[in-house]
Amino acid sequence: MAQPLDTIIIGAGTAGLAALREVRKRTDRYLIVNEGPWGTTCARVGCMPSKALIEAANAFHRRHTFEAFGLRGASALTADLPSVLQRVRALRDDFVAGALKATHELGNNKVSGRATLLGPRSVDIDGTAYATRSIIIATGSRPRVPEAWLAFGDRMLTTDTLFEQPTLGPRIAVIGMGPIGVELSQALARLGLQVAAFTTGHTLAGLSDPTLNAELAALLKQDMVLHMGAEAQLREVPGGIEVASGANRVVVDQVIAAMGRVPNIEHLGLETLGVPLDARGLPTVDPQTQQIGNLPVFLAGDANTHTPLLHEAADEGHIAGLNALAPNPTRFRRRTLLSIVFADPNVAVVGPRVADMDAHSTVTGTASYTNQGRARTAQRNHGRLCVYADHASGRLLGAELCTPDGEHLAHLLALAVQQQLTVHDLLGMPFYHPTLEEGLRTALRDAARQLPHTHASDLAACPALGVPALD
Ligand SMILES: Cc1cc2nc3c(=O)[nH]c(=O)nc-3n(C[C@H](O)[C@H](O)[C@H](O)COP(=O)(O)OP(=O)(O)OC[C@H]3O[C@@H](n4cnc5c(N)ncnc54)[C@H](O)[C@@H]3O)c2cc1C
Repeated sequence: MAQPLDTIIIGAGTAGLAALREVRKRTDRYLIVNEGPWGTTCARVGCMPSKALIEAANAFHRRHTFEAFGLRGASALTADLPSVLQRVRALRDDFVAGALKATHELGNNKVSGRATLLGPRSVDIDGTAYATRSIIIATGSRPRVPEAWLAFGDRMLTTDTLFEQPTLGPRIAVIGMGPIGVELSQALARLGLQVAAFTTGHTLAGLSDPTLNAELAALLKQDMVLHMGAEAQLREVPGGIEVASGANRVVVDQVIAAMGRVPNIEHLGLETLGVPLDARGLPTVDPQTQQIGNLPVFLAGDANTHTPLLHEAADEGHIAGLNALAPNPTRFRRRTLLSIVFADPNVAVVGPRVADMDAHSTVTGTASYTNQGRARTAQRNHGRLCVYADHASGRLLGAELCTPDGEHLAHLLALAVQQQLTVHDLLGMPFYHPTLEEGLRTALRDAARQLPHTHASDLAACPALGVPALD
């Protein structure tokens, strides 16, 4: 083998590209290798095309409120699904072109092919072995589909194939109601497809608060048929694919498997590292350094399964890129957890899930948006917000929510949690009127009333005026 490289980055997704940015500043003795299409999961088949679809669906869905606004003629509007999907692909192509610019001029530093580890300092790329001082693994994940379901051929869709379809349905089943299943099932239902959604569990979109789960389930049922609590079984029947779940049966034209994602690790040769692997074949990865044991090998992004979200993949790639070329790895403080699901109303979890908090030392402040003033003016008065605070200190621990424009409230709450603000600190901030943020203030006041020291200036101890627009 020739003189070793300084590092090899395996995978050119968000994590790999974030690592590349740091690596390029420090050395030109590196390779970035990617199997399959370049352009990142996020831009090609993930965050961006899914959001483009959701925007079309929600724009069309708004017609149901037009009569209430005094706007007539909504019933004449139609959703032209092929055109909707065409717009999604056109936008997608643009986002992919942007991502491709990051690797456009890398010359021989960029290789297409499959990388397999031969050990902690050696990588095989399609039959050629490369010696290297460090390795950054950023191989991402792919949709989980039961082997037997592949027999349904091109009627078995995943997010890898959904956006490529010229049209869809008209009857479609979505199996799995985590973040991706909730986003896609609601969007497709709102575009006029007959959607039946299935989930084995009783939680939706990553929420753990039972009140919020119940509220979200009721809202989703306005758009689609939703079956929870039993495993879905599929079989071929005349006229389509039958999905059976408990006592429920539905025949559909296509099925979307949204049952989570599996890390792309099985062909990687992780066993050559000589460290213990768990039942999934994954080594332990330090979330503050991204390092595997004390090896010069770093595992970043969806592939390590820690927090499969884009901003986390970018952070992890950045950390791996810095540490792979450093004499000693630096330990980085990680951000407050923030996950947002672009359902309508938006769903979000900030900080640890309430199910993982100590129920005895935690108070919950809650506010419904059903009667929230600003939400009512927009015909968007649905959902609920819960904030969780430490009883002794009043510090905000986290929040779960399902509210209009919840994505923005979630960012505000993440900022507060990371800054270790208390409920009283937050109530001391200005709240403009009339805004959706006033719903957050209602939840904070509810929490404040349960804390030992209610500050007079918070108004938390004041009784309601009985005037919705002012309370
Ligand atoms: C439908 C959908 C919607 C989403 N929406 C959001 C959202 O709204 N917000 C959010 O934060 N996150 C969202 N995500 C998650 C987000 O897209 C991922 O967390 C992120 O893209 C992960 O980036 P990554 O770099 O880890 O992996 P990827 O971008 O998947 O990159 C991994 C790359 O490695 C390559 N590779 C694999 N094995 C090898 C090998 N052996 N050799 C060489 N190359 C290899 C792969 O082909 C791929 O190109 C969504 C995901 C999906 C699917």
